[in-house]
This record gives sequence, structure tokens and C-alpha cells, in this order.
Amino acid sequence: DIVTIRRALLSVSDKTGLVDLGKALAAKGVELVSTGGTAKALRDAGLDVKDISELTGFPEMMDGRVKTLHPKVHGGLLAVRDNAEHVASMNEHAIGAIDLVVVNLYPFVQTVAKGGTREEIIENIDIGGPSMVRSAAKNHDFVAIVTDPADYAIVASGETTLAQRRKFAAKAYALTASYDGAISQWFARVDQGETFPETLAITGARVTELRYGENPHQKAALYLPAGDATQGLAQAVQVQGKELSYNNYNDADAALELLAEFKHAEPTVVIVKHANPCGVATASTLVEAYEAAFQCDSVSAFGGIIAVNRPLDGPTAEAISGIFTEVVVAPDADEAAKAVFAKKKNLRLLLIGEIPDAKREGLVAKPIAGGLLVQTRDNGAITLDDLKVVTKRQPTSQELQDALFAWTVAKHVKSNAIVYAKDGVTAGIGAGQMNRRDSSRIAAAKAAEAAETHGFAETRTKGSAVASDAFFPFADGLLAAVEAGASMVIQPGGSMRDDEVIKAADEAGLAMVFTGMRHFRH
Ligand code: 5GP
Repeated sequence: DIVTIRRALLSVSDKTGLVDLGKALAAKGVELVSTGGTAKALRDAGLDVKDISELTGFPEMMDGRVKTLHPKVHGGLLAVRDNAEHVASMNEHAIGAIDLVVVNLYPFVQTVAKGGTREEIIENIDIGGPSMVRSAAKNHDFVAIVTDPADYAIVASGETTLAQRRKFAAKAYALTASYDGAISQWFARVDQGETFPETLAITGARVTELRYGENPHQKAALYLPAGDATQGLAQAVQVQGKELSYNNYNDADAALELLAEFKHAEPTVVIVKHANPCGVATASTLVEAYEAAFQCDSVSAFGGIIAVNRPLDGPTAEAISGIFTEVVVAPDADEAAKAVFAKKKNLRLLLIGEIPDAKREGLVAKPIAGGLLVQTRDNGAITLDDLKVVTKRQPTSQELQDALFAWTVAKHVKSNAIVYAKDGVTAGIGAGQMNRRDSSRIAAAKAAEAAETHGFAETRTKGSAVASDAFFPFADGLLAAVEAGASMVIQPGGSMRDDEVIKAADEAGLAMVFTGMRHFRH
């Protein structure tokens, strides 16, 4: 099972770790063969390298489009070493065996991401590289294919085992699949303006296996899809705390996606439980925002996931430490905040640098049995100009602000979603009920409980704005909001019974606006 590496072909765009690997292989007596740029890098480091053109007897030509596409290369990769006919062909055509291929591909995805021209992008479609990757991977019984600098250390020993080569081969085909997937997506989107590529490659590199999935009897892992340049939760740096679980990732992602809506806002704090926000607040300082968000539903906040849109400071960290919190996501944290959290060994602190853009485009997928549902992500957003007043009473500017705030939060609450808000703070959130009236009542009941627990002069739903993620099909949901004291309603509109709902609002003296946009989230 062990193959001793006698000859290695190195051809890499990303030259990270190349020289060290070259030196280690040379020290084991391995013959090095390389393409232009790679050969130069190795030679500059004082290593002895054979040019690929010497091996093939052809020059590298056509802007590098044809470098390694030659029987002397692919014969050396594909020949079955213990097959007499293959060996005879090798001898007849003077083809030497290649035992190790180190390749990483032209940076196609990066060229697209940085806005390269059509010519640059097409030139960065690697042809010879993936061909070698596939040949070597097919013949992994004899050949090792290394596509990731992280694996250089394994082959630096000068020999490989079958188990290692099989692992390399699996990784290699995942790479070529996602590489071609990215190319196919670019063609679909850029050349034909299509949203959905004909085929979907969602392969990616496994970052880590998680302790378990949503439940202990399920297994789970985190992958980074190739070709996705989004900066988000998956790239967060964990500064301290226990290992992140599947549910932690899921909840922290929900918190960060909601927080992204407030990327450019005043200091804002989002507290999430089971992927639903249980308190969101904007204030002049982060610690004030935290206190206000916490008081919205302090029962649910226990064991919550918190996301903040400013570097975490000492006072906020101190306040968060008052109860058990699972995860805190922040752009950054100062020394004081880190020192406070250092005493909470289990609390996971994730630093994300830049908060993602809520309006970014992208595809989101949801597996169904035997298939995959794919849609564009909900990056819809409305401004004051989009609102249509449908009641006799016009809203005040404060009511409009509260309404937009409530609406933004409701977008991130599982349907049916009802959110009451006042002065940049959620007053009550009703999530995930099977009818809208129940969500409305639950949100009001939570607000009443918060007022009692924290001794508010009056329930925060009094004079609040209430947002509904989809239209009120009947007046009953709206009447529940009237009962809770809301003075303003924001909802998509578009129900068959809009007239009935508007009439109920008018009778109660409410102001109501239609957004014309719905935010189901199931
Ligand atoms: P170098 O920097 O050594 O000149 O080129 C290395 C890159 O060339 C690698 O990314 C490798 O995948 C790619 N490559 C190797 N052979 C060929 C080929 O025949 N055609 C094309 N288009 N790319 C190749």
C-alpha cells in the first residue's frame, strides 16, 4: 500500500508552502518536474527542477493554455503500474511514472470576485490543472494528488499510504466539481443573466465535525462552500469558550443576519433563542441597548445568543455576564470586555470583523426528501417612501420610525410573526404560531409580563407600532393589537378582507401603512 515518491509534478498558482515542500521532497531524493512559474519559484530557492517542456518535448504555449496536456504527463499519471500492457506502452513511448502531483488551480473564483474582465475570467479557467487532478485521482492506487497546501506535510515524508491517497482523491474530485460548478454559475449569471445555474455544485471543504447535530443522536459538520465569497458567521474567529454546537451556529447565524439589518444604525443588540429574536434594541450606547433588549423577554434571554453591531466594551460584557449566555457575536471586543468574559469559561465569544451586508444577493437552499429547494435570499428592504398610508389617521414620524423598526425585526421572526416596538426597542415578539391572532396575543402577553417583571410604568405595547410579516387575513389579529394598546400598524396588505381590516383600524383610531412586501420565514 505504500508508494515511495520518486518523481513529483508540481504546478501551483498559489505558491504557499511550495518551497518548503520542494526542499523536503528533494531531500528524499525525489525528482521535481514543474511548469513555468512553479519551476521558477523552486529554482529561485536553489532547487533542482526539470521543466515540463523538457519532459513533454513541447514548449508551454498559447498563453499557458497548453502546458501539461500531453501523453508523457497523462500516461505517467494514468498507467497502471502492475498492468503488463500499460508498462509496455510506457517503455515503448518513454513515459516515466509520476508518483505525486501537487496542483492548485487558476484562481477563477477570486478573479470573478474581484471583478475581473471577461477575458481575465476566461483565462482563469484552468484546463490542464483539473485534468491532472482527475488523472492522478483516478489512479490513486499508485499516485498521490495533493490540492491543498494543508496536506503538504503529509507527502513531505516522501511516501504515501493507500488510505492517504484515497482521501486525497476524494478531496480532489470535490475540488474539480466545485471549480466547474463555479464556472457554470458564472456562465449562467453573467452571460445569460440567469439566477439559477443549470446544475448546482454545493461541494465545499469540511472545516470541522461538530459534537452532534440538532439532537445528540444526529451527527453534524461545518463546511465552507467553494466559490462563496460571503464573509459571515462561518468565518468568525472564536476568541474563547466551549466548542460551538450545531444549534449555536444556527442561532448565531440568525442573530447575525438580523443584526446585519442594523449594520449602519446606532448601537444595536439582538438576543436570539431557537433562531428567533426575543429582544432587539437600539440605543445611544451598547450597554443601554443590551439592557433594553434583555428586558423585552428576560425569561427567554436565559441561555441566549447575542449579536452586537459595535465592538464589545467592558460595561456591555459586564451586563451580559449577569445571566447565562451561550454565544456573543461582535465585530470586535476591547481588552476590558475580553477580561470580563475570561471569567466565563464556557461563554463563546465570536469576532466577525465586518458585519455582512443585509442586502447582498445569494441563493439559499433547503433540502426536501429527494430534492433541494433553492431560492434567492430574502434581501428585500423597504424605506419610508415605500409605505402607503391606508387609514384616515396619518402616522406621526415617531410612529413611522417604530413601524420600520418593528417591520425589520419581524422579517427575521419565524412566521406567523408579530412584533410590537416603541422607541427603538421591541416590546413583544410573537413567533411561529399557526395563526396570526395567536402570535399577536402571545406578543402582547410577553410585553405585559415584561412590564410586570421589570416594573415599567406601563406596558411598552401602549402607543407602540405593531408589525405583521404577512397580511392580516381577518380583523381579529389587528383587534388583538388594538387591545394591547398599539397605535400604529405596519403590514404588507393585499388580503381579500383589507377593507374589513382598514375599517377596524379606523374605528380604533389607528394609523396603518402597507408595505407591499411580505417576509414569510418558515
Ligand atoms: P505556473 O505558475 O507553474 O506557470 O502555472 C501553474 C498553474 O498552471 C497551475 O494552477 C496549474 O493548474 C496550471 N496548469 C498546468 N498545466 C496546465 C495546462 O496545460 N493548461 C492550463 N490552462 N493550465 C495548466
